[in-house]
Amino acid sequence: SGSDDGLRVTGLTAGYGPVTVVRDVTLEVGRGDFVGVLGANGAGKTTLLRALVGDARVTAGSVTLDGRELRGLPAHRVARAGVAVVPEGRGLVPELSVRDNLLLGTATWNRRYSSPAVTRALAEVHDRFPVLGERAGQLAGSLSGGEQQMVAIGRALMARPTLLVLDEPSLGLAPRLVRQVFADLAQANRDGITVLVAEQNAAAALRVATRSYVMHGGRVVTEGTAEQLEASGLRSAFLGEG
Ligand code: ATP
Repeated sequence: SGSDDGLRVTGLTAGYGPVTVVRDVTLEVGRGDFVGVLGANGAGKTTLLRALVGDARVTAGSVTLDGRELRGLPAHRVARAGVAVVPEGRGLVPELSVRDNLLLGTATWNRRYSSPAVTRALAEVHDRFPVLGERAGQLAGSLSGGEQQMVAIGRALMARPTLLVLDEPSLGLAPRLVRQVFADLAQANRDGITVLVAEQNAAAALRVATRSYVMHGGRVVTEGTAEQLEASGLRSAFLGEG
C-alpha cells in the first residue's frame, strides 16, 4: 500500500454543459475510510459524485483511485475500476425481482448469472441482509423504502467494489431506518469496503463517518471529524441545523 491508495480528488471543477456546479474540490478518501460529504440541498453533492463516476462534465482537476486516473473514463469503465454507486433514489428496477436487481450489480465482472462466483456473491449479500434472501422472488417495487435501500446497497456490493459511493441513502426513510442503513454501511466498512457518502442528514452521517467534508455553493468549505465540525459551528452555518 502506498500514499496513492484510495480516492484522491484534486481541484475538481464540474457541471453540466456550460453550467459549472462544482468548483475546485479537493478531497481524499483513504483505503478503508468512511467519509461523508455534507451540505444543504443544492450544495453540489450529487454533481460531485456524478463527476467522480463519469456522469457529469469535468472541466478541471483529477480523480484517481489507487493512483489510477479516472477522469474522462465513461461510467461503465469507472464501475469496472472498482467504484460502485448507490444513486439518489436508489435506481432499482421496480418490476424486476429482488434477486434480479441484485444480479444487475454483477454486470461489471460477470456474464453468466449461473456461475459459482455469482452464487457466492448472492449468498454473501443474503448473509448481510437476510430479508433480501427471504424476499428474493418479490418485485423490488413492492418492498418498503428501507428494504429497497438494502437492495440498492446489496446490488452495489454485488459488484465487489473497492469504493462504495452513496448519494443520500437516508432520503425518504424514517429515522429508525436511517440508523439501520448507516449501521449497515458501518458494517460494510468494517468488512473492508471504503465508503464515500453524500448526505443532507448530517447528524446521521456524522455518527458513523470518520471524517466529513462540508459543501456550500459547489465548494468544500470545511472538513473534519464530527467533533471538529461541531466545535467550529459550521453545522448551523452551512447545514441549516441548530
Ligand atoms: P442532492 O440532490 O443530493 O441534495 P445537491 O443538492 O447538493 O445534491 P446538486 O444536485 O449537485 O446538489 O445540485 C447543485 C446545483 O446544480 C443546483 O443548483 C442544480 O440546480 C444544478 N443542477 C443539477 N443538475 C443539473 C443539470 N442536469 N443541469 C444543470 N444544472 C443542474
